[in-house]
Amino acid sequence: MNMSYEHYDTVRLNAISISEVARRLGENPRRAGVNQVCTCPWHEDRHPSLTLYERTDENRCHCFACGHGGSVIDFTMQHENWTFQEACRWLSSTFGILVHSGSWQSRQPTPKPAGKPAPQAIQSEYTYIPAEMLENLVSADNSLCQCMMQMFRSEAVENLVMEYQLGTYSMNGQDGYTIFPNIDTQGRICNLKVQHYDTDPESARFSHSDGHCLWLGKMWSKEGRLPAEAEFSSVCLFGEHLVPHYPAQTVALVESPKNALFGALQMPQYLWVATGNKGALKREVLLPLQGRDVIVIPDCDAVDDWAKTIATMADLANFIVSDFCRRKAPADQPKFDIADYIVQQKAETILADCNHP
Ligand SMILES: [Zn+2]
Repeated sequence: MNMSYEHYDTVRLNAISISEVARRLGENPRRAGVNQVCTCPWHEDRHPSLTLYERTDENRCHCFACGHGGSVIDFTMQHENWTFQEACRWLSSTFGILVHSGSWQSRQPTPKPAGKPAPQAIQSEYTYIPAEMLENLVSADNSLCQCMMQMFRSEAVENLVMEYQLGTYSMNGQDGYTIFPNIDTQGRICNLKVQHYDTDPESARFSHSDGHCLWLGKMWSKEGRLPAEAEFSSVCLFGEHLVPHYPAQTVALVESPKNALFGALQMPQYLWVATGNKGALKREVLLPLQGRDVIVIPDCDAVDDWAKTIATMADLANFIVSDFCRRKAPADQPKFDIADYIVQQKAETILADCNHP
């Protein structure tokens, strides 16, 4: 059977900056007050009369000359005279937004529509990991959760396990690996990252296990549990699935999932999400944070790079970049991060309690 369908992430597509879309379609939007204007594709427009609204709560266009307007997808369809599917496909491929395909077999090329240039087909189709494969692995039995339970209430850690769907994995005769799922806003499991941590808080503090991680998606496709040709999306934040569930909460954005978890335990007033690595701080990854208040807390060694990157996305969300980790880092710890700080503070509190019973 080779049934295939494409599901476009229309929420994300409509969240792409409408002026950026207009620019990519050959328009030259210019500022008019707080908004921008470009020529209207709905009528013969010689002077720019289409207003592009990009305030935090809206991302759409409206023409005061002809009364037409709409969303990013509406604008793209009208501008290029494309169907809904063509517009979604072009937006997805141009802005790197994943398309969910209902088939694991390669898609037949779509016939070109007559009379207009066909948008380029998406090169890769992503496979999502079936929820049942994670379900049985969700638990607090991993070394990281055990470590966190030494510092925080077990119920708080167990709650975190359910929220972030943390799991436990055994391999190579070793137990207690932590599974960090990347679940997108639509609840699809993009991939599962596996890492090992020391249970002792003091050594966990210095174990920055970058590079020693493994992805279960790839491993399971090698083992034949998932299709051999499966491709997994990397455009997903750790904790992304929680973003729409807490629409009023300020988001705290960090690099490693471990930082997000320690942050969530210590400062639950924020909704903690993680990019997974330094280089993943990209517009397409941060789109689910559109319009939100976001505190960005880079690790000590990434403050300048992240501040520079975030400055190019000021239209996306209300970002504040904090140099907290750099200010708090001891001289001998260039990779100091928020989890290190929390562990350090906890250790000092416990020591103080021991000294002054
Ligand atoms: Zn118009």
